[in-house]
Amino acid sequence: MARSEKLVYFFGGGKAEGKASMKDLLGGKGAGLHEMTRIGVPVPPGFTITTDVCGYYYAHKHRYPKGLEKKVGDSLHRLEEIMQKKFGDPSSPVLVSVRSGARESMPGMMDTILNLGLNDQTVQGLIAKTKNPRFAYDCYRRFVQMYGDVVLGLKPRDRNERDPFEVMLERKKEKRGVRSDTELNAEELKELVSEFKAEIKAQLGKEFPEDPHEQLWGAIGAVFGSWNNPRAIDYRNLYRISHAWGTAVNVQAMVFGNMGENCATGVAFTRDPATGQKRLYGEFLVNAQGEDVVAGIRTPLAIDKLKEIMREPYGELDRVAKVLERHYKEMQDIEFTIERGKLWMLQTRTGKRTGFAAVRLAVDMVEERIISKEEALLRIEPDQLNQLLRPIFDHQDKEKAARDRRVLARGLPAGPGAATGRIVFHADDAESWNKRGERVILCRIETSPEDIRGMDAAQGILTARGGMTSHAALVARQMGKVCVAGCEALDIDYAGRQMRVDGTVLKEGDWISVDGTAGEVIQGEIRTLPSEVLQVLITKSLDPKASRVYQQFAKLMKWADGMRQLGVRTNTDQPDQALISMAFGAEGIGLCRTEHMFFEGGRIRAVREMILAEDEAGRRRALAKLLPIQKKDFKAILKIMGSLPVTIRTLDPPLHEFLPKTEEEIVELARIMDVPVEALKNKVKILHEFNPMLGHRGCRLGISYPEITEMQAQAIFEASCELRKEGLNPFPEVMIPLVGSRQELHMQREIVERVAQQTMKAYGVRIRYMIGTMIELPRACLVADEIAQEAEFFSFGTNDLTQTCLGLSRDDAGKFLPSYVVQGVLPDDPFVSIDRDGVGRLMRIAVEKGRKAKKNLEMGICGEHGGDPRSVVFCHEIGLDYVSCSPYRVPIAKLAAAQAVLRDRRLR
Ligand code: ADP
Ligand code: MG
Ligand code: MG
Repeated sequence: MARSEKLVYFFGGGKAEGKASMKDLLGGKGAGLHEMTRIGVPVPPGFTITTDVCGYYYAHKHRYPKGLEKKVGDSLHRLEEIMQKKFGDPSSPVLVSVRSGARESMPGMMDTILNLGLNDQTVQGLIAKTKNPRFAYDCYRRFVQMYGDVVLGLKPRDRNERDPFEVMLERKKEKRGVRSDTELNAEELKELVSEFKAEIKAQLGKEFPEDPHEQLWGAIGAVFGSWNNPRAIDYRNLYRISHAWGTAVNVQAMVFGNMGENCATGVAFTRDPATGQKRLYGEFLVNAQGEDVVAGIRTPLAIDKLKEIMREPYGELDRVAKVLERHYKEMQDIEFTIERGKLWMLQTRTGKRTGFAAVRLAVDMVEERIISKEEALLRIEPDQLNQLLRPIFDHQDKEKAARDRRVLARGLPAGPGAATGRIVFHADDAESWNKRGERVILCRIETSPEDIRGMDAAQGILTARGGMTSHAALVARQMGKVCVAGCEALDIDYAGRQMRVDGTVLKEGDWISVDGTAGEVIQGEIRTLPSEVLQVLITKSLDPKASRVYQQFAKLMKWADGMRQLGVRTNTDQPDQALISMAFGAEGIGLCRTEHMFFEGGRIRAVREMILAEDEAGRRRALAKLLPIQKKDFKAILKIMGSLPVTIRTLDPPLHEFLPKTEEEIVELARIMDVPVEALKNKVKILHEFNPMLGHRGCRLGISYPEITEMQAQAIFEASCELRKEGLNPFPEVMIPLVGSRQELHMQREIVERVAQQTMKAYGVRIRYMIGTMIELPRACLVADEIAQEAEFFSFGTNDLTQTCLGLSRDDAGKFLPSYVVQGVLPDDPFVSIDRDGVGRLMRIAVEKGRKAKKNLEMGICGEHGGDPRSVVFCHEIGLDYVSCSPYRVPIAKLAAAQAVLRDRRLR
């Protein structure tokens, strides 16, 4: 009994003992009922048994705290006074619902029982009062059905068995030759009540309890018990909701939507939760009760129809919806019942929404002066902005596919968005099919760097293996591609050019659709619509004035820009990506990887020659072929970025990644290089490493082969000097990777510095430039003060820093990391969100030592974490200057950076 001695909170008659802020104690549903009562919204009276009682119940072998029984009895009396009817009164009974409700809503996970208090006597009272036997028996059979299921436990025994009550109901309808429940008459419903009770007796050996008080306590126990039913536990695990919170129980006087044609029940949102449009949005059913609307027994009607058939109650609903939205200053998701033309509210909560709706709601509400810009910025989940950038499936087309059972499998939603195309299994097929105008989905067991161009050519990427940080996922995010990764159900047969999903065989060329937001794989073609934001910014095929989505997105970004302190750059290796970065308003490039350029076209051959050369002279010959290519690439990127900083990393990956693998490739290369095939094979073998991640890579390459660094520096500075001569003002930052000691950086720096000076002298111009290092080894963090002596900037390479700090290979972690997170060994996947306690602490050390040694040392982050909202907040906290992320995550990083400032302020 931690928080409160008070076990029960009453609401009704315009007064309430609880309020909106008491969600923890009263649950979300309870707090909403109390608050609505307080502000004069029509709510049937009732009372809430607190979540603390639930805690007690589980701590004391399903017993209740002393005094609860009396409190419940007293509250029931107050309820009876307001309703002017008595619970269990055979002449005029009040009926109640017993409703679950935890701190956070867990839709459909726990139980609710309606019409409690009915028995063979009280049902007569209900008939006498309402003169409506059909209604009374409809309530009664619903009550016995719900109570029999939830409290007494008459349920289907396995997933092949149907709900026993539904089976009996079905049989009755068949016998009477009717389709809908509403067509059954009083007599038939009365028969059902007896049949239900008899079935309970037969199956469970239990009598149905006739005493209303026994019914009530049975229901209260069942609701507390439902907190720990398996589906509720699963749900909490999935959404990381604490198992310790417990549920509250709400006991509330019943109002009836099933009394006849002037009655209804429904659910609504105060705005459209898919688009954010300002209009009452929802569904209802006439002459129905409770979950009928969502249960799919009858097809509900759109709320506009209510306006036609029940004008006054609709007007009242519209009014109350506005009152609630103004009061909560948030879109509300509401449940209501109309009893003989009178509106009653039964629930209100903050409505869940899509990314589109989130942006529209936030911006609209600022313009309607409901919330401030700051509040609007805080309301949107940064990741939700993704949805505004991705192609989208036509909603109706996709729903039809689901109805037709074409959803074949699920994987990880690695690259959000919608893609539809024909199946190909090889990257080069993706390219050639794409060239002849086909849309394709590249389906692979997993992807590797050689697949890059095929991935680029594909509409979407689907892999059978790999996690959220697998190669496919990483590249997809950087490219803004739709991707479903790790879809284990796929059995891909490259040779047979087909894949099997359960019983379905999909062949090369078949149509398939991939929903990277939901992680779904769907058979056949589904219509897609392009993102309006991209049409305005990138393809320029849409007039910004014609797109509200774009305008609101732009407005939000402007507010974020005005608020944030962190700079936002992008990880960009190619000119087309640089253009996209600029369109999104990136403030520079934080990581340009030079090796990606090596894979393109005929370049790989020169790279291989360089690697396999016998001596320095041979290497220099090969490097001379690469120089003009690299220079051209750098020039194109630097030109696009104007005077913004472009951080270019010198060669980083282990050399063997570039080597020929197949016999064919080796033979061909030997011919070109004019060396014996055996000698080449031997060389390839020598380059093999047992642990390449910790092997001959990063600055170690430049130290073994200074001529590589020299060539790269030359390419960078020649490109820059030429642009300078053209009147531009390029700003390269040369970044040396994997430095662990001052001496390493010193040696590489000397080369770069020398080439810079020579080149500028040769061109007769001066350019701005910086030399710095990537901080990605624990040692670099610990000796950051020494390294800072040689650096003008640090950029945290948090991918490798995470691997080296945790001693965890990202490519091998998939086998155990997910279960680590589920079991709580690690709070999150450290490759997705910065491990604050480990990696984060190293970063803090490096920032502190670095700044102490050099006050104006520039500091940023270029790992994948730069686009993760929580990691962005951390970067703000430790005082970095900028984050760098993939181009399509720029808006997300900007919003997260603005939120970091706002949260900071709120704390102070
Ligand atoms: P859930 O948490 O699954 O939404 P609720 O407790 O909200 O369950 O109950 C489901 C539905 O039952 C409500 O939307 C409402 O239609 C109906 N209901 C609950 N309590 C009452 C009541 N006191 N009077 C009339 N209908 C009720
Ligand atoms: Mg509800
Ligand atoms: Mg690295």
